[in-house]
Amino acid sequence: MPRRILLLAIFAGAVHAQAPQTKPLYVLEDSYINWRLLPSEQSYASIDGKHLKQYVVDQANISLHYRDNGHPQFWGRISGTEADADNARWLEEKFRSIGLSEVHQQSFDLPEQWMPQSWTVSASAGGTTLDLQTAQPTYRTQATPAEGLELEAVDAGLATDAELDARDLKGKAVFFYTTDYFSRHATISNRAWKRIADRGAAAIFSILAVPGNIRTQFYPVGVSIPTFSLGLQDGVAARAMIDHAGATPARVKIRLAVNMVPNLKTSTVWGTLPGATDETVVIVAHRDAWFQGANDNGTGVATMIGLAEYFAKIPQSQRRRTIIFAGTSGHHDGSALSGKWFAEHKEFFSKTALLINCEHTADEELVLSNGVIRKTNGTSPQTWYVGGSHKLEQIVVNAFQEFGVATYAEPERAAAGEMGRYQNLAPSMQVIDTGYYWHSDFETPEIIPPTALAAITRAYAKIITDVNALNLEDVQRPPTSSGGANN
Ligand SMILES: [Zn+2]
Repeated sequence: MPRRILLLAIFAGAVHAQAPQTKPLYVLEDSYINWRLLPSEQSYASIDGKHLKQYVVDQANISLHYRDNGHPQFWGRISGTEADADNARWLEEKFRSIGLSEVHQQSFDLPEQWMPQSWTVSASAGGTTLDLQTAQPTYRTQATPAEGLELEAVDAGLATDAELDARDLKGKAVFFYTTDYFSRHATISNRAWKRIADRGAAAIFSILAVPGNIRTQFYPVGVSIPTFSLGLQDGVAARAMIDHAGATPARVKIRLAVNMVPNLKTSTVWGTLPGATDETVVIVAHRDAWFQGANDNGTGVATMIGLAEYFAKIPQSQRRRTIIFAGTSGHHDGSALSGKWFAEHKEFFSKTALLINCEHTADEELVLSNGVIRKTNGTSPQTWYVGGSHKLEQIVVNAFQEFGVATYAEPERAAAGEMGRYQNLAPSMQVIDTGYYWHSDFETPEIIPPTALAAITRAYAKIITDVNALNLEDVQRPPTSSGGANN
């Protein structure tokens, strides 16, 4: 083996370290830590984690079907595609079979959608070529000219200002390495994308230091040149090639074809469970996803369906408030049309005692240890938000403790994700989790513990039940210092 190839192989192997090969003593799927129900909580036993997990698998299968029918690179339950329509029909059918009323799809016209058709990225030096299979264009990034780009490659290390200033980046394909594990945004590594583009780069690759070789879909990164994320194994191999190239620098070939597709549609899927009054509880979950989207947002949709099933079995006279369910079009493409509709219809929330956003509600605690991602039988702690009275805060905290929902030590100041733009229109709450595999092709049903799905869905059911014992004004946010209500 030539020395350069050998070096590359050793480098790639370093991030490919194997997990210990001891034999497992339990079946993981059956052995996630489980909170047992007290006798007084047995009414929540019908919320079954394995049953809910099937809904995650169903949604993942919609994504896989789309992938396997002509969309091998940019796939998921993507707004405006057949996968979106399949998913909407699937959810509508679930709402109907549960017996919800007023089940329907509210259609929206999408603005032009960014649809990458195909791409290839390769790096070469000294007669060796690396096919960088995990390169994934950041959302809405620039297409290349049809003939592609061929650029000199530069390794910018961690993209500190000192490293960038020490190199000539003009017209180059710049690779930077980041341990900003949970970011899929413009903000990664102190806005490295912008700092590199401002120095004249022609293309940028972000090597995400999540062990393995995952493809991750980033949100828009705010620069006007082609930008890609890259799996660690590919990224380390590319850096080794660049760093060992010697007098003739490594070069990168990039070809990215994108169509901006007009006239697509998406929808909000509605269902209603009438209660004893016209006051409401509103449950939302976004339907869109990248890749299999098991956690984001297969789990949230599964939790929403689980709540519909649970409350549908309770007699209407015992359901104080009407519960409205909405599978929203989502926000991955930036249009968030369902959310805009909510934000523009304040009156919709005039009698809402509680708004719950079901988003990324359950995943396994993965641990980065000795250069590999280890699976565990634990549940990932959640960031969480609650906006309402002190009584609501206590109801939420008690339910999490009662059913074993692990959270960050402090709640967030505001709701991230789907509910951000309308969180203040009613008392509201959510948990939300991301994790190493968020927005990647490794975010599969395999990392969704049924026990975690049961725990969060039971907790939400208990929160709704406890809120239904309170009057509207006892749930709402306390008046602000200016004297007006904050919602
Ligand atoms: Zn989400």
